[in-house]
Amino acid sequence: MIDLPKEMPAENDIYKTLLESTKAIPWKIDWSTLQFTYIGPQIEQLLGWQPSSWKSVEDWANRMHPEDRLWVVDYCVAQSQSGIDHEADYRALTKNGDYVWIRDVVHVVRKANGDVDSLIGFMFDITERKKTEEELFKLQKELEELSFKDGLTGVANRRMFDAAIETEWLKARQNQQPLSLIIIDIDFFKEYNDFYGHLQGDDCLKQVAQTLNTVAARARDFFGRFGGEEFVMLLPETDENAAWLIAERCRQALFKKQIVHEHSKVSQLLTISLGVSTMIPAPGVQHNELINRADKQLYQAKQKGRNCIQSA
Ligand code: GH3
Ligand code: MG
Ligand code: MG
Repeated sequence: MIDLPKEMPAENDIYKTLLESTKAIPWKIDWSTLQFTYIGPQIEQLLGWQPSSWKSVEDWANRMHPEDRLWVVDYCVAQSQSGIDHEADYRALTKNGDYVWIRDVVHVVRKANGDVDSLIGFMFDITERKKTEEELFKLQKELEELSFKDGLTGVANRRMFDAAIETEWLKARQNQQPLSLIIIDIDFFKEYNDFYGHLQGDDCLKQVAQTLNTVAARARDFFGRFGGEEFVMLLPETDENAAWLIAERCRQALFKKQIVHEHSKVSQLLTISLGVSTMIPAPGVQHNELINRADKQLYQAKQKGRNCIQSA
């Protein structure tokens, strides 16, 4: 027969025991003072810092990998201010100088009048999961390099562009036809990532790619991701004026999508800058010349204030 204790522990004690025996690390921050009012003792086992050393949100921010700090802090503050529950993955610094991947899941507690009262959350150790993800990511990159499709956006990749420009350059030289290239670069995309987080940044890249992919309609027109937040459009048998019009169509198509970018310095919406170059290949000139010229025009477009087209 089981001996039941005469007195059950107070309910709070039960909760405390449960909370402090899970792998997830619970914490609470008072919103008005930005001080920790609680953090589970398990934190010491995971990161080496004593619970009593977690005093304010600054301790939390300071113990974060410098590459993650800016966007994680900005993102969490913005979400908390808007009263939205959220989560963020980042690398937390351990006392001996290593980093541990953490997923912080945050619930915003509001007062009766709707103001934010406090934040309650759980930190999960996701190091193992991240390791697997990184291995998968590496494999995916290797596969991508062997294929012609960009893994993130689904449009043609750099490798396919290299093949396309080589073919089209030769054809344009043989037929003495103009070949146009548009290089497209998203404006202030670093700020987009910093403010909305990398996952939303990735989503945004997908939307931009899908939008621009439908702009040029002729069978041999090529659109692809050049790398990062840059895209290319290669237009055979297209002169300078026609290429400029297609570049303007790109700008308009993206504008119609109305993708909000609060931290852009040129607009409230996401914009692009475009560099256009057109050449009829002369003997002995390499196709890199077309890329270099378009790149220079893109640089000019950025200099001119962005959200515009420059062509030569
Ligand atoms: P500018 O208007 O001068 O072009 O400014 P910018 O911030 O767009 O330019 P910069 O080249 O400094 O930053 C490009 C950013 O694009 C930095 C990088 O984090 C981001 N980026 C590149 N590739 C990816 C990606 O695959 N996903 C996400 N989310 N971001 C990416
Ligand atoms: Mg760029
Ligand atoms: Mg850019």
